[in-house]
Amino acid sequence: MDLLSRPFGPRLACRALPLERFLLPDVRLFDPGERLDLVGDLLIGDGKILALGPEISRSENVEVLSDLAGCWVFPGLVDPHVHLRTPGFEYKEDLESGTAAAAAGGYVAVIAMANTEPAVDCGPVASWVLDQAGRRAQVRVGQVGAVSKGRLGQELAELWDLVQAGVTAFADDGSPIADADLLLHALRYARGTGRPLLLHLENKSLATDGVMREGKWSARLGLRGIPAVCESGPLARDLELIRYAFAEESRQASQAAESGGRRTAGKGAGSSQSGPVPFVHFQHLSVARSVQLLRQAKEEGLAVTGEVTPHHLLLTDEALCSFDPSLKVNPPLGSEGDREALLGGLADGTIDCIGSDHAPHAPHEKEVPIEEAAWGSTGLETAFAALFSRLVLPGRLSLGRLVEAMSSGPCGVFGLPAPRLAVGAPADFFVFDPEEEWQVTETSLRGKSRNCAFLGAELTGRVRMTVVAGSRRFVRARGEV
Ligand SMILES: [Zn+2]
Repeated sequence: MDLLSRPFGPRLACRALPLERFLLPDVRLFDPGERLDLVGDLLIGDGKILALGPEISRSENVEVLSDLAGCWVFPGLVDPHVHLRTPGFEYKEDLESGTAAAAAGGYVAVIAMANTEPAVDCGPVASWVLDQAGRRAQVRVGQVGAVSKGRLGQELAELWDLVQAGVTAFADDGSPIADADLLLHALRYARGTGRPLLLHLENKSLATDGVMREGKWSARLGLRGIPAVCESGPLARDLELIRYAFAEESRQASQAAESGGRRTAGKGAGSSQSGPVPFVHFQHLSVARSVQLLRQAKEEGLAVTGEVTPHHLLLTDEALCSFDPSLKVNPPLGSEGDREALLGGLADGTIDCIGSDHAPHAPHEKEVPIEEAAWGSTGLETAFAALFSRLVLPGRLSLGRLVEAMSSGPCGVFGLPAPRLAVGAPADFFVFDPEEEWQVTETSLRGKSRNCAFLGAELTGRVRMTVVAGSRRFVRARGEV
């Protein structure tokens, strides 16, 4: 049987809860994908949106959530990049705590990376995580499969085995794929599976012992810097390899067409996916030069996408003056020029989506001198509120673009159907109070770890409720910590 015609779709799993029937009265319903922006009611039942609009008849046997009147309702957020630390590092985070944090941030689905112990590099491990998610996760969990065995960058993992287990994509995230030949093989094989390849860009030999981005602030603080070329160099090389693989695929397709054969590459696995996936998705871009290179590649027509984190959009290397280990992230925070370029790239669509890169760590790994601290910041609970407060409210980014980049944008990368506010669509959405003012504190966070780059931040706008598959996964009263 032709492998490519087998229907192995990506699997996203979460706990099943009883379906609920309720009505949100007088809310602002906002979905840029549906060109929807109106004030009205939203009726949920049977796991779906049953009705929405200004004139819904309210029957007596439906629960009306009056305390949410005046709030805004958005399609559920989807995070293309999280570390749920299962299996092996459950002291940092687990499926329950990580997805509770996701629900508290307005997310209905998250895609978990494979840098666990053991790495998710074979079908049984991927199946195990997804089975666990089906029992414990509050929001849908998709699992990435490793590109190389053990994420060691030496030998390809069994990509088809991983596809049959339902992985959403392939990534060695946490590590780059330094070997060009391995990457070329991964590009060819991943293409045949219909799953995108996600790349973490980092030249490890240039990054040696660096703590922050190289520049004015690393010099002033006396901390070893990591130059920007550490990311843009690998990006330029990878784009060249993608051009080569793409040309090879086009050549084969035209030869097959000439000889009357059917095209086999690039069609994916014939699944529940809603569209073709990109050749490659570049994770957490952080420097201006990367935005330039991605823009150029897209103008040429290369099927590539890019991602940026909230911390790279909102913070710069200057913040390291505090020596706060929560600000030690990989890739490191860049200059103001980098931040502006990332924001420009997000606004004009060069960058397709926002990923939190939620990276929880225990106190003994973070509350140490910055040189020794582990890399990463948590982000699921603060991403939307921080970007809304600091980019949308001051007029730097439109609300529509923010919602797109955190909902339909990531779905496009994985070929998944996007959450929608439309009658008949699955009830996957969140409710946001745009006026509530709050401070990010340790007690306000649901995840297991406290290493959040936004601790202490004062934000405007807060998630009040998250609904997945028609049941409430997170509810917060106004003003509740
Ligand atoms: Zn990474």
